[in-house]
Amino acid sequence: MAHPQPRSHIDRIPTYVPGKPPTPRAGLTTYKLSSNENPYPPLPGVVEAAEAAVAVMNRYPDMGSTALYDALAARLQVPVSDLVAATGSVALVYQLLAAFCDPGDEVVYAWRSFEAYPIAVTAAAATSVQVPVTADGRHDLAAMAAAVTERTKVVIVCTPNNPTGPSVTQSDLDAFLAAVPSHVVVVVDEAYLEFVRMDDAVDGLATYRAHPNVVLFRTFSKAYGLAGLRVGYAVAATPIAGALRAVSLPFGVSHIAQAAAIASLAAEDALLERVEALTVERARVAADLAAAGWDVPEPQGNFVWFALGERTAEFATACDAAGIVVRPFAGEGARISIGEPEANDRLLEVARAWHL
Ligand code: PMP
Repeated sequence: MAHPQPRSHIDRIPTYVPGKPPTPRAGLTTYKLSSNENPYPPLPGVVEAAEAAVAVMNRYPDMGSTALYDALAARLQVPVSDLVAATGSVALVYQLLAAFCDPGDEVVYAWRSFEAYPIAVTAAAATSVQVPVTADGRHDLAAMAAAVTERTKVVIVCTPNNPTGPSVTQSDLDAFLAAVPSHVVVVVDEAYLEFVRMDDAVDGLATYRAHPNVVLFRTFSKAYGLAGLRVGYAVAATPIAGALRAVSLPFGVSHIAQAAAIASLAAEDALLERVEALTVERARVAADLAAAGWDVPEPQGNFVWFALGERTAEFATACDAAGIVVRPFAGEGARISIGEPEANDRLLEVARAWHL
């Protein structure tokens, strides 16, 4: 009997491996450091706003996310026509590829980077062109510009780069944008933007204002702590934003997510204080690791990267025994989110005991 056959590229879509919850251990508090989540619980005001929205769950949400767009437009000083809300910024990757790529078109990005990129590119029947990151986990922007061909429709710059950690500088991004043809869409995935503390940091909004081919992807999942509600947004020149909106899932962003995102923007000062505390913890972790002889790439997000190669699984197992679950990438390395101080202490204990 004949069976329905998915399109031929569907079999080639890599599997997304989400961060696991910790294994419960008797007498030991366990911590999940495997998904770059915010360890702080939601603010009471944000919970209240979300609860008020729960009360009308029999209704569809505002498909135009009007109030959220107004709040973002006021906050970012951009026109509403340049904003696109989505069910997490990961959805924007899919939307952008659906809007800009024909089968076989090329999408250039650094590798290793966010694991959803190859999944989304393959799902769009487009072709991934992966440019290796440098030994210290940085984008090789010169090599990425050189990888652009006439089939290239999209380039993705992930800064800070998940999972390796470093950010690109504004000067390097400017040089890159000058080298890439203006008909290529350049995504600047700023999922971890709020955690960046460095000189010459990328100013995404100034870059989008100067370049009509630049799209910023941002999210409420990390600094704003709304990972479970699925809301992110893009900022791009109106024609690109319009194309992203055209392929949106209707009613994708729930009114609970919209309400919580608006309340989070209103509570931004309190949320950014928490981000600051996480960056202080990150600096402590990085300094202690360096003192213990570890050479980790400069962490600019809420995570650190241990390039452990073949010993990755062994390290993940050691972490698991210490009550922390990390994200191993087989044969390459482990990514560990910055969590509560006690969770970070556990990581440091494992790292200090590890024979380098
Ligand atoms: N971009 C990057 C670089 C990420 O690491 C993530 C989350 N892991 C996302 C986008 C997606 O975030 P979300 O869909 O939760 O907004």
